[in-house]
Amino acid sequence: MTITLGPTRIERVTEVDHWPFPPAALFPAVTPRHLCCADGDLDLSITTHVVRTPDAVVLVDSGNGNAKQRPTLPPHDMFATDYLDRLATTGVRPEDVDVVVSTHLHPDHCGGNTRLVDEKWVPTFPRARYLFSRTEFEWLASIHAAAPAEGPGAALAATFADSVLPILDAGLADLVDVPATVAEGIDLVAMPGHTAGHLIAEITGGGTTALVTGDVLHHPLQFTDLALAQAGDADPDLAARSRRIVCDRAADLGAVVLPAHFGGPDGGRITRAGDGFRYADR
Ligand SMILES: [Zn+2]
Repeated sequence: MTITLGPTRIERVTEVDHWPFPPAALFPAVTPRHLCCADGDLDLSITTHVVRTPDAVVLVDSGNGNAKQRPTLPPHDMFATDYLDRLATTGVRPEDVDVVVSTHLHPDHCGGNTRLVDEKWVPTFPRARYLFSRTEFEWLASIHAAAPAEGPGAALAATFADSVLPILDAGLADLVDVPATVAEGIDLVAMPGHTAGHLIAEITGGGTTALVTGDVLHHPLQFTDLALAQAGDADPDLAARSRRIVCDRAADLGAVVLPAHFGGPDGGRITRAGDGFRYADR
């Protein structure tokens, strides 16, 4: 489904439609109150966004990617999806992409930057400039340099090695200081907390705004309690603050909300509800 903002078109391309997590694995402080009537695992997706302006094809987040070895982070380990075929249904081939933006450098957002060819990691989008937040890049580079052998840190170090360094080596990386403008009507805004350099993409056209929110929000149940931290939030207080800023902005603008891990093909809307907010698919 195409979301049209004046001359700009956005498509949500899922890499994975069902990505289940036990609630307490995703949100360590979750309570029955948060879950209300929900039962069993929380069902996430992995969703990327193709943004076409009159001048550029921009991909916001590239997904987890195939064949990435993440033994210390099993939900991310060794995907074998048809993501590039799904992308092709939007009319976009890898060589058509001008810019790749990462909301942040967790494996499910930048792993698709590269693909394995003859046992070498090569850029998936051979003509693209890949924009990385300088803050985020330096954070992941420092984890890679520390070479942790176990736990999520090992998976993050591997993400730098197989999904970020090959882009640098190919000369396709641009480190940017946020805020930054990617193309006409596409701006990057810092929204830290989940990671140090997490950003969102604000896309405007035809008098409407869309917010590609990355991992500021992971699941609609967070609307019952914006302070509910996700297990991967590096700074839970800052992440909660960013969640509230994004919700305020989305509600004020009547924006189209495009999260990375939930929502239908047309994204959603956030409206005010008492002291908090409510989310609904469009
Ligand atoms: Zn994510």
